[in-house]
Amino acid sequence: MQTGSFQGMKLLNKSTILNTIRLHSPISRAEIAKKTKLTPATVTNIVTELINENLVCESKVGTSQGGRKPILLTINNRDSFIVGVDVGGHTVRAVVTNLSATIQARDEITLPSPLTKDELLKQIVLVIQAVMTKSKINKDKIIGIGIGMHGVVDHLEGIAIFAPNFQLRQIPIKKHLEAQFQIPVYVENDVRAFTLGETWFGNGKGIDNLICINIGVGIGAGIILNDQLFHGQNGIAGEIGHVIVDINGRKCSCGSYGCLQTIAGGEVLRERALESEQNQELLKKAHNDPNAINGALIYQCAKEGDPLSLQLLADTGRYIGVGVINLIHLINPTRIIIGGGVAKAGDYVLAPLREVVKERALTAQARETEILQSKLGDDGTMIGAATLVLKHLFNPHITL
Ligand SMILES: [Zn+2]
Repeated sequence: MQTGSFQGMKLLNKSTILNTIRLHSPISRAEIAKKTKLTPATVTNIVTELINENLVCESKVGTSQGGRKPILLTINNRDSFIVGVDVGGHTVRAVVTNLSATIQARDEITLPSPLTKDELLKQIVLVIQAVMTKSKINKDKIIGIGIGMHGVVDHLEGIAIFAPNFQLRQIPIKKHLEAQFQIPVYVENDVRAFTLGETWFGNGKGIDNLICINIGVGIGAGIILNDQLFHGQNGIAGEIGHVIVDINGRKCSCGSYGCLQTIAGGEVLRERALESEQNQELLKKAHNDPNAINGALIYQCAKEGDPLSLQLLADTGRYIGVGVINLIHLINPTRIIIGGGVAKAGDYVLAPLREVVKERALTAQARETEILQSKLGDDGTMIGAATLVLKHLFNPHITL
C-alpha cells in the first residue's frame, strides 16, 4: 500500500468503523460518527460498503431520542466465515467460525509419521476442505484462513521455519494454501495464536500487557505488549520452556541442559511418577503400562486423593511458578493466563503456582499479578488462528 494514499486512509476509516461496530454493537450510524469523529457522510458511505460486503448488517431499531428511530448495526455473523486451524505435533484440527469466533463446525485428522513437507501441506488442505464441507457454508462466504503452527514461524511470510515435531524446515504454508483456496491465509506460531484468541475472546479481553503460557509436552508463552503480539527479532520471544533454571540439569529436547521444560513439562510428570516409590496407585490405574501414565491420569488420581499424584501436580505448579516469576520480572504483565494439557489440572497446579508468585515476586504489586486458567481451553489455538484473520480485517497495519 502506498504511504499517505487516499486508499490507505479509506481502509483505515473502514477498519475503524468495523472495529467500533464490533466493540459497541448494536450501534447506530450517528453514534459511530460520534465515537470515531468521522463525518456522518463518511460513516454512511463506508457502512453501505460494509453491508454490501456482508461484514455488517442492520438489526433491530433503537430507541428514539426524538425524531426517527435509528437503525442499529451489528457484525454480520450469518454471511461471512473463517477457517481456524491448529497444526499440532500429531494432529491437525480445524474449525469454521463466524466473525464473532463462534464455532460452526469442526474436524480433525491424525497425521501420518514420518511426514514430508508435501504430505503435511496435503493433510492441512484435506482437513480445511473437510471442515468447510461439514459446515455446509458456501465457499464464497469463507473470507480467510488462519493457521496456528507449532514451532518457529515467519508470520510475515507465512512460512513454518522449523517444525520440531516433524523435523521439517521452510514449509511455505501461506503460499500453498492461498494458491489452493484463493483467499487470504495468515500463519502464526500456535502459542501466539492461542494468546491472540484469549486476548480477543477469552480471559485476556481488554488487557494490554498479557502473557499466555501453554503447558503441554513443551512449554511456550505468547506475549502481548501494548496490545500487540511481540515476536522478537527471529520469532523466538516467549520460549519460556527453554529458559534455563538448572545449569547442571537434565538434557532438554533442544540440546541444552536444565531448561524449565526438563522439570515442568508434561513428559516429566510421567518420568517422575515412574521414579517414585509411591507409584502403586498410579500404576494400578494405568494397568501397569508406564506409557499410560500421563497428565490426565495423574489429574484423575489426584482427584481421588492419591498423595503422589497430588505431590506431582503441586511440584509442577511450583516449578512453573519459578518460570512465571522470571516472566513477571522480565515483562511485568497485568495478567498471566495458563493453558494447555497440564493446566487442565486446575487448582492442583495453579494454587501452588500462585503461592510461589506470592512468596517470591519482587514487589507487592508483582506478587498480586493475576494468574488465570485459559477460557478457550483446547479450542484456544483454533479460535486464535481464526482471530488472525479478524485481526487483519478489523485492525490492519496501515502506514499513513
Ligand atoms: Zn530446552
